[in-house]
Amino acid sequence: MDKVLLVTGGSRGIGAATCKLAAQHGWAVAVNYSANALAADEVVRGIRADGGRAMSVQADVADESQVLRMFEHIDAKLGPLSGLVNNAGVVDVSARVQDMSVQRWRRMFDINVMGSMVCAREAVRRMSPSHGGSGGSIVNVSSAAARLGAPGQYVDYAAAKGAIDAFTIGLAKEVGPDGIRVNAVRPGLIETDIHASGGLPNRVRDLQHQVPMGRGGTAQEVAQLIVWLLSDAASYTTMSLIDVSGGR
Ligand code: NAD
Repeated sequence: MDKVLLVTGGSRGIGAATCKLAAQHGWAVAVNYSANALAADEVVRGIRADGGRAMSVQADVADESQVLRMFEHIDAKLGPLSGLVNNAGVVDVSARVQDMSVQRWRRMFDINVMGSMVCAREAVRRMSPSHGGSGGSIVNVSSAAARLGAPGQYVDYAAAKGAIDAFTIGLAKEVGPDGIRVNAVRPGLIETDIHASGGLPNRVRDLQHQVPMGRGGTAQEVAQLIVWLLSDAASYTTMSLIDVSGGR
């Protein structure tokens, strides 16, 4: 039987690339989306056309009750989960900290931090042998911003990703004895629509001079690392925060 993987925010960008590549590596994939069912179904159709197993599943990761429903749906439709990619995330428009509202910070942390933590909790409850599971692998999508700080753009986003790094370290230590590996990837400037969502459609082009490799990365290049971390090839890798940033 295929191993079951949930990718949050799987309908576009790094999440969609991860869903497709993971399916090629034999995972049965639950493609989570919050609002764009059509885009998620498109990813599912592509995977099925290639002979893989996938289904789409709706949940706003910032809403605990929706996340609980999503996990129950996956339990019933695909079977026991052994992989989770906490990919769903948002930026906000560029601003200085002095001009940011608490409302903005709540949204940022509810989605990027609480969403990932609730999904990780539900995954551990299924993967842990004490709950009848047989181990697994969790990959949190952090950001190079966690160490760069994103000054003048979104320090709040960087702080949220810093929280993800700390969560990765603590959870990895906590569940290592249960056969659950927990790692984070820290992408740099990657060509996806997230930059336009934050009002900076040319962000990669504008900042790529800061990248030692001289270019932005692709969603596929991040997905390669995520799928490796999920796999048995990474069987001794846990608690790692791995940059995929062209040296930036
Ligand atoms: P993207 O905007 O294309 O993808 C983000 C996905 O998350 C979208 O599908 C979106 O619908 C989903 N999402 C947002 N809020 C959600 C919610 N509340 N519930 C469920 N899904 C939700 O951007 P991307 O670049 O593919 O980003 C994926 C991850 O990579 C994010 O965590 C982002 O912070 C991180 N990242 C991206 C870059 C980059 O340069 N693109 C760099 C570092 C880190």
